Amino acid sequence: MLIVKKFGGTSVGDKERIFNVARRCAEEYRKGNDIIVVLSAMGKTTDELIAKAYEINPNPPKRELDMLLTTGEQVSVALMAMAFDTMDVPSVSLNAFQVAMHTTRIHGNARLKRIDSDRIMHELEHRRIVIVTGFQGINKYDNYTTLGRGGSDTTAVALAAALHADACEIYTDVDGVYTADPRYVPKARKLEEITYDEMLDLATLGAGVLHNRSVEMAKKYGVQLVVRSSLNDHEGTIVKEETNVERMLISGVALDRNTARISVIGLKDEPGMAFKLFNLLARANINVDVILQSIGRENTKDISFTVSRDEADAAVEILKENMSRIGGKNISCNREVAKVSIVGAGMMSNPGVAAKMFEALYNQNININMISTSEIRVTVLIHEKDAERAANAVHDAFGLEE
Ligand code: ASP
Ligand code: MG
Repeated sequence: MLIVKKFGGTSVGDKERIFNVARRCAEEYRKGNDIIVVLSAMGKTTDELIAKAYEINPNPPKRELDMLLTTGEQVSVALMAMAFDTMDVPSVSLNAFQVAMHTTRIHGNARLKRIDSDRIMHELEHRRIVIVTGFQGINKYDNYTTLGRGGSDTTAVALAAALHADACEIYTDVDGVYTADPRYVPKARKLEEITYDEMLDLATLGAGVLHNRSVEMAKKYGVQLVVRSSLNDHEGTIVKEETNVERMLISGVALDRNTARISVIGLKDEPGMAFKLFNLLARANINVDVILQSIGRENTKDISFTVSRDEADAAVEILKENMSRIGGKNISCNREVAKVSIVGAGMMSNPGVAAKMFEALYNQNININMISTSEIRVTVLIHEKDAERAANAVHDAFGLEE
């Protein structure tokens, strides 16, 4: 079997953890398997490197920032190879250049395009464990790129797809994917399995266990994933195309505080207003999420939408600058909001799921500001102070507890 194993920053955070990972991998290797290990930078290294960069230059050139950040992963892979060496397990560490992991041009948020498999195959044929730097790539100018925060997951899935691995295991510091974040929903339970689509929604809504691009890629290439802990032998969560959805209506509740609501009041009620408004934001690369437009009255209408909190100032500024073009009377921004979402493939074939969520919120006397839905998701925008109470109430209402 060819197995890709990815270990996150905490899993390689210090000497003991590094040897723990090495032992786990050596065990599988000795059974005769081929092993590719993908590593993140140790502990908080990436955060620290970013802080260092900003100490020197508040606006660091993106190429140089990537040059700096890629060192974090390189430290991990080299140390891991040294650990294997003490155990007499043959291994070799490779960075993005040595493998040749080609990405798009963009620094800080590149996408993987193509991975050369020759070098890795050659090393595997010589029965070496191959340890690859996560998160990094190279672009057509032979410069280092990075795949966005948390991007090592995507490196692992891409390698599994390119080399047709038999398994892709993502090791982290929790036991798997939970029905909600156990830090604020104490009754949250680990899921045995979850579909790609559900996982993608949860990852995008900030569940934090997997990089959302890695899930996108796993779905595209049919790579089945296992998310599990590096610190114990518990079974973890399997991420795949279809699960046994009759079991449950929904798989998880997500809470996202990184959101702000912007309202533009008194827009002219005529064709093209939504286009003009959102086109301004799109051109500034600002992602818009939930959108609500009021019914027109006296030839005017209002549009409200959410953006991530760190982009709220920029969005308001752009709209204010362009007030005359879009013709709104007033712009307001509310940062004291949070999004609570339920996600589940089961809701596709079951009416009443949204109503049940709204009932749970009503029972708690929680007011809903905005609503948006997809085939497998319902999202409400509420006051931030109600967020945890809402998540717990909804989690209870759908019987997600153990
Ligand atoms: N080291 C990178 C980060 O902290 C990539 C990763 O951990 O996946 O974002
Ligand atoms: Mg991660």
